[in-house]
Amino acid sequence: MSEDDERARRRAELDAKVPIVDLRNGAKGIATWAQTIGEDLHPAALEILGEARRISSKIDDQTVTSIVIGKNAEKHADTLISHGADKVYVISDDRLEYYRDLPYARAVTEAIKEINPEIMIYTATALGRSLAPRCASRLHVGLSADCTQLDVGQYISRKQNQRFPTAFLMIRPSFGESKLATIIGPWTYPQSATVRPGVFRPLEPDTTRKGEVILFTPNFTDEDWKTEVLSFENEADRLELDKADIIISGGKGIGKDGFVMLQELVDAIRENGQKVELGSSRAAVNAGYISHDHQIGQTGKTVHPKLYVAVGISGAIQHLMGMQSSRKVIAINTDPNARIFSVADYGIVDDYKNVIPPLIEKVKSGFKFNFENV
Ligand SMILES: Cc1cc2nc3c(=O)[nH]c(=O)nc-3n(C[C@H](O)[C@H](O)[C@H](O)COP(=O)(O)OP(=O)(O)OC[C@H]3O[C@@H](n4cnc5c(N)ncnc54)[C@H](O)[C@@H]3O)c2cc1C
Repeated sequence: MSEDDERARRRAELDAKVPIVDLRNGAKGIATWAQTIGEDLHPAALEILGEARRISSKIDDQTVTSIVIGKNAEKHADTLISHGADKVYVISDDRLEYYRDLPYARAVTEAIKEINPEIMIYTATALGRSLAPRCASRLHVGLSADCTQLDVGQYISRKQNQRFPTAFLMIRPSFGESKLATIIGPWTYPQSATVRPGVFRPLEPDTTRKGEVILFTPNFTDEDWKTEVLSFENEADRLELDKADIIISGGKGIGKDGFVMLQELVDAIRENGQKVELGSSRAAVNAGYISHDHQIGQTGKTVHPKLYVAVGISGAIQHLMGMQSSRKVIAINTDPNARIFSVADYGIVDDYKNVIPPLIEKVKSGFKFNFENV
């Protein structure tokens, strides 16, 4: 036996002596929040459901329950069951057609209390990021935000002399996305996480799957209806990254002000009758400069415009995966060694503040990008 094998054997022997602790107190199975947009299911609802189904095989009770809220929410039950749910808690109410923090938090919290899952998964969309901490705080449990991998496995705390054979492993990029951190919290239940949209694939639908549908009525109070939705505009619907001839894409390097400038450029190009959209890197989305539906790359959209202008984007492999088949790429970056230049047809090593304003002026005076020979 090699030295490494011997060390592993001794470690396993010591681990086996650490007493198993079970603080679940009856909590079992996995629940997910199935986000809706108006009367439709959000695509991420099925992504997290598929992942819940996959990891459920690693815990004692493998029941997966989806909580769906909205106007006519019952119509989603079959879709959720065919994509992996065993049970669907339906909270159907015309007043819940569009997301509102207070009634949604009330509804999901009460459903979780009744379901009593050991794991709870939310989408890390703008709405999920608002809902999940509210529910976690009402339930006095922890929450790991923005996970990109989920698993179930053993966690041993030598310090506390505790062994959890099936802890929820919530994995997410950290330290400026350069490392993956595994977060655990098997001391309060449900162990809760939000998961980035676009990371997991939904299961292929199986229409022969059977499930249970539970119509659930939360105890709303007047306090829950303090806010009113006056109108709802879905920006994502208007965004046509896949159809744009030109994508002007911003990175973390340009900050919030830079995105205001890029939007002005996009508006000016559009004014001239060219098909253009605003894209972004994930670091810019994470920094809150722009919403996720603009993200290009491995966990965002894949695009093939005639012209891709990368402004203040370093060119991480995950970003290149989404844009490298653009016909022409122009990169603007202060760092001459930035990786984005390796896929660029034209590179400008400069501060975007020196490049974008004169370009806006040029476009406003009638300049159009010419795609002949592109
Ligand atoms: C599982 C996983 C999936 C991922 N999926 C994606 C994805 O889909 N899409 C994606 O983009 N990323 C994705 N990432 C993240 C990716 O690894 C990078 O962290 C991210 O792309 C970096 O974004 P950025 O280039 O905007 O930021 P940074 O890497 O911080 O780069 C900023 C750049 O701006 C430049 N700069 C600074 N100031 C200026 C200025 N004034 N003018 C001009 N340039 C300036 C800097 O020189 C630098 O090159 C993923 C990561 C993981 C782990």
